[in-house]
Amino acid sequence: MALVISYLTPDGPRYGLVDEGIVFEWEGDLLVDRQYNPGHAVGTPESVTLLPPVRPSKIVCIGRNYAAHAAEHNAAVPDEPIIFLKPPSALIGPQVAIEFAHSVGRVDHEAELAVIIGKQAHKVSRESALDYVIGYTCANDVSARDLQKKDGQWARAKGFDTFCPLGPYVNTDLNPADLGIRCTVNGQLRQDSRTSMLVFDVPALIAFISQVMTLLPGDLILTGTPEGVSQLFDGDVVRVEIEGIGTLENPVKVVS
Ligand code: ZN
Repeated sequence: MALVISYLTPDGPRYGLVDEGIVFEWEGDLLVDRQYNPGHAVGTPESVTLLPPVRPSKIVCIGRNYAAHAAEHNAAVPDEPIIFLKPPSALIGPQVAIEFAHSVGRVDHEAELAVIIGKQAHKVSRESALDYVIGYTCANDVSARDLQKKDGQWARAKGFDTFCPLGPYVNTDLNPADLGIRCTVNGQLRQDSRTSMLVFDVPALIAFISQVMTLLPGDLILTGTPEGVSQLFDGDVVRVEIEGIGTLENPVKVVS
């Protein structure tokens, strides 16, 4: 098992291993290697510039996948997963600002468990689905709620630059079935649930999505958000915390 991060070096992005709060150099690539042999100590995670851990070809998201979240929008629980896409250009790393114009209207946080695909998945079975996962990380499916309602489809509301904070930690050996997931804003608890409350669990999602589109190494599945979503304001600090993975923190900047 390993906790992997991506961080910036003078030579560009590279992967590192984190052990007991220290980052170690790693010669490997998250999507290629399965040997986690640490090199020299680099420093603490706070001392390096952390990056989103993957560059996906697509970010597949799931709507209304916690019953209590569907209920807070007066929406029914779907009988099949509702899938939509966020553009990879929306990705940002930890500590980078979620930025949007005042005119966008209401913008909410959505704490989500993100699944990272490790090998090409085409029409895979539920039973074999987890074999295609390389790890799990934290995501925030930032959503412009007014535009989501107005447009009827979600590409604009979910697709702004900076609307997909991701990372920093990837746990490569985690059972996703029952993990605590929380979101705080300025230290106040807003979302607090468990992945055991997912309507469609991780194997079911991979099986379902891969019937539609081939998942490639590095692709992400954002598994949906629990109840407690709330509006973000200028100067807020939003944190997504998932048991066994870690914390993703981003400030919020509203521009005129
Ligand atoms: Zn979402």
